Amino acid sequence: MWHTIVIGSGIGGLAAAAALARRGKRVLLLEQHTVPGGQTQTFRRQEWVFATGVHYVSGVGPQEGPEGQFRRLLEWLGDGSLRFAPCANPYDIVRLPGFEFGIPHPESAYRAALHARFPGETAAIEGWFHACHEARKAGVTLMAAHNLPAWIGWGFRVLRGRHADEWSQRTLADQLAEIAHPQLRAVLGARWGDYGAPPATAPFIEHAWVTGAYDGGAYFPVGGPARFAETLLPAVRDAGGECRLGADVRRILVEDGRAVGVEVEEGGSVTVQRAEHVISDIGLAGTLACLDSSVAGAWHQQASPLVPGPGCVALYIGLEGDIAAAGASSANDWIYDSTDIDRLWQKPADEDAPGLFVSFPSLKDPAWHGPPTAEVLAIVDHAAFAPWLDEPNPGGDYLAFKDWVAERLLGQFKRHFPRLAPMVRFHEAATPLTQRRFVRAVGGSMYGVEMSVERQGSDALKLRTPVPGLLLAGQDVMGPGVQAAFMAGLMAAAAVEPALWRQLGK
Ligand SMILES: Cc1cc2nc3c(=O)[nH]c(=O)nc-3n(C[C@H](O)[C@H](O)[C@H](O)COP(=O)(O)OP(=O)(O)OC[C@H]3O[C@@H](n4cnc5c(N)ncnc54)[C@H](O)[C@@H]3O)c2cc1C
Repeated sequence: MWHTIVIGSGIGGLAAAAALARRGKRVLLLEQHTVPGGQTQTFRRQEWVFATGVHYVSGVGPQEGPEGQFRRLLEWLGDGSLRFAPCANPYDIVRLPGFEFGIPHPESAYRAALHARFPGETAAIEGWFHACHEARKAGVTLMAAHNLPAWIGWGFRVLRGRHADEWSQRTLADQLAEIAHPQLRAVLGARWGDYGAPPATAPFIEHAWVTGAYDGGAYFPVGGPARFAETLLPAVRDAGGECRLGADVRRILVEDGRAVGVEVEEGGSVTVQRAEHVISDIGLAGTLACLDSSVAGAWHQQASPLVPGPGCVALYIGLEGDIAAAGASSANDWIYDSTDIDRLWQKPADEDAPGLFVSFPSLKDPAWHGPPTAEVLAIVDHAAFAPWLDEPNPGGDYLAFKDWVAERLLGQFKRHFPRLAPMVRFHEAATPLTQRRFVRAVGGSMYGVEMSVERQGSDALKLRTPVPGLLLAGQDVMGPGVQAAFMAGLMAAAAVEPALWRQLGK
């Protein structure tokens, strides 16, 4: 009998397990993959080491207050063994044809840089930042109403509920429509890839979070993304808990209406593990798939309007030589083929990706060993990979398509970084099928449930699920991103062990 079973070792599951362990609880963490960490992985191909699932994080700066909250919590859970290195400032660079704009932190510097670059747009720029501020306030209300203890959530609703409801209906496209200057509009909206919904779908509240997230700077984990699992798991083991890899949870067991454990397949045999609480870090769809529909009929219904968000094609590139001297940096590049940024990559077979995100992890990590690397991401319509998404072993036609798409992305990368082109020695693509295979991403989605106005207010995504004893953690609760998924994990742990709420406030 465990105190808590956590399903899935993504950052949300790791946070929940480590926090409960810090309170002396025995936790069983079950992960179907052979590597812990979920999306946050470091992997090797030949002599190149690749980082995935994290290109930059916020909240880990040296500051007191919210800009340093994520760091303080990680230090507490990992005994200070996880360190972060600052990325360049400007940390995001928007590149449009014939135009380039670096986004610096803090937000006041970003604002000043916009005023300097677009001197005739003072009112539009100020209006944008005011709207971001209001939308973030609305976001706090929605989060509190959904996930904090009921009496606090009720207080937020009474005081600011109407304000929150109004903002929750607004898309990023609605807000951008108030900006007349096309390049300014593109700069302000460019970073929708951080949560994976193009402006027409994206809730403005989510974009407002991204706009303000890096006030305290952008950082990269020293030693790569795998360091999250490496530094959080010791706490679980020290408290008598376990992390089992290759442990595939098939069912969440419910008795007398309460979650009491799981049925898990390990090495070909199925066992039952029982616990007082179950925390699921495998997303809404993954969790519902483990529950009999008779148990959670209403929850299934609440979830039915929610769909998986788009997937991505990631191209991992191994290079040789001094890439910094050839134009690479530790800032991220957001490259668009026009000021019309509201487009997914619809037909990878027939057209170039309209938007690319390019990152050079080897330049972000001072502890990097081995030759340099780049990662190119393009957010893609599900439909492009639909023919193979439900096939357990997609065959040669998929592999040929994947190679074709990889060559196309590599061609785009080489055109945008001509001085790096002769340094390319290796490349390999990951697709929505890769996401599905390694982390069981439903529909091959990059960030779980689609970020949409419908999602903002959905009761299906609350931390406390309709099944007593079962809590939801990870990116589907508070939104995509390592920090948000982590906070959702900690809050799930606090819902089980209320003394943890105090730690969250520190
Ligand atoms: C390419 C890419 C780049 C990204 N870049 C950034 C970035 O720069 N900054 C940032 O903040 N965020 C970034 N993100 C987002 C971030 O990585 C995720 O939001 C976050 O890691 C999700 O964590 P999670 O805990 O919700 O779940 P996940 O990481 O998805 O983990 C879920 C785990 O559950 C396991 N699992 C599933 N089903 C079962 C089962 N039945 N039994 C047992 N185990 C199961 C899976 O194998 C997986 O390990 C990126 C994501 C991607 C894909």
